[in-house]
Amino acid sequence: MQLYYDKDANLELVKNKKVAIIGYGSQGHAHALNLKESGIDVVVGLNAGNEDIEKAKAAGLTVMLNEKAAEWADIVMMLVPDTIQLMVFENDIKPNLKAGNVLAFAHGFNIHYNQIIPPTDVDVIMIAPKSPGHLVRRQYQEGRGVPMLIAIYQNASGKAKDIALAYAKGIGGTKAGVIETTFKEETETDLFGEQAVLCGGVTELIRAGFNTLVNAGYQPEIAYFECLHELKLIVDLIYEGGLSWMYYSVSDTAEYGGLAKGPKVIGEESKKAMQKLLEDIQTAAFATEWINENQARGPKFKALRRLLQEDLIEDVGKKLRGMMSWIKK
Ligand code: NAP
Ligand code: MG
Repeated sequence: MQLYYDKDANLELVKNKKVAIIGYGSQGHAHALNLKESGIDVVVGLNAGNEDIEKAKAAGLTVMLNEKAAEWADIVMMLVPDTIQLMVFENDIKPNLKAGNVLAFAHGFNIHYNQIIPPTDVDVIMIAPKSPGHLVRRQYQEGRGVPMLIAIYQNASGKAKDIALAYAKGIGGTKAGVIETTFKEETETDLFGEQAVLCGGVTELIRAGFNTLVNAGYQPEIAYFECLHELKLIVDLIYEGGLSWMYYSVSDTAEYGGLAKGPKVIGEESKKAMQKLLEDIQTAAFATEWINENQARGPKFKALRRLLQEDLIEDVGKKLRGMMSWIKK
C-alpha cells in the first residue's frame, strides 16, 4: 500500500483551476472552507431556495445556483446526497461540463453502478475523506488532516491522479496520508462495511442480546445497560488501540469470555450471510433494490424506520438517557 503525503502533491494543479462544491452539508462545508483557506478559487453550488445558501454566504463563501457554478468551474465536486446525485447531474451539471473539466466525487456509488454516465472528455476522480465533514474541517483548522482515499475512474487529461492528490492536499488529506483505491473497491467495501458491521451487524447484535435478556425475564433497563450503553466504552478502546488493547483493558473474565464465546455468536451462519451480502453488492442486486426503493419513494424504508422506532429498546433507551445529564439532547 502506498501512502501519499504533502510532498507528493502539488497544490498548484488545483490553484490554477476554479472549483465548484455542489451541496453544503457535512462534506460540502468542509471542502469549500478548507479549499478557500488553501488559497483556491471556490464557489458553492446550491439549488434555488436551499437554506444552506445563507449558511454558506455567512461563512464568507460565494454561492451560485448549481448550473451557474458548474458552468463557471473547471472542477465540479458532487457533494449532494447520493440518492439525488443523478438528478442534479443530469439537470444542472452535465449540460455545463466542458471538455477538460474534472468531475469529482466523495463516494463511488453513482459512478460504479452506472447511474451517472459522464462524458468521455472529462476526468472523473474521487477524493473520499474517511471521516464526517465536521472532523475534516476541524482537523484542517488545527493544521492537521484526516486520512483520505483517492481514485481515478476516467483520466482524460492524463493528470487525473495529480489533480486528485492536489485536491486532497487542499482539504488537508495529505497531512494525514492518502491511499489510492478504485471506485469499485471504495463503493463495495463501503456498502459491505455499513451493512455487515457498522450499521446493520452491530444494531442487530444489540437488539438480539437485549431481547434474549428481556425474554428471559430480566429488567429491560438492566438489559439496555449491558447490551447497548456500555458499547461506547468498548468501541472507544477498540478505536484507540485495536482489539488487543480493548481486551487488555477489560477484566480477564470479560477477555476470556469474549475470546472463547464470541465466535459462537458470529458462527458459520453469520459468515455465510455476510458472504451473501457481499455477493449482492458485487452483482448490483443491492444497488438495484435501493434505487428501486427510492424510485418508489421508500415504502419499505419508511416501514423499517417506523418498526425500529416502535421497538422496546428505543423506549427504554429514551428514559434511561434522560438520567444521563452529559448526553446532549
Ligand atoms: P449532506 O450532509 O446530506 O449534504 C448534502 C447537501 O446538498 C446539503 O447542503 C443539501 O441541502 C444539499 N442539496 C440538497 N439538494 C440539492 C440540490 N438539488 N442541489 C444542490 N444542493 C443540494 O451530504 P454529505 O453527507 O455531505 O454527503 C455528500 C457526499 O459525500 C455523498 O456522496 C456521501 O456519500 C459522501 N461522503 C459523506 C461522508 C459523511 O461522513 N457525511 C463521508 C464520506 C463521503 P439540504 O440539506 O437543504 O437538502
Ligand atoms: Mg442539510
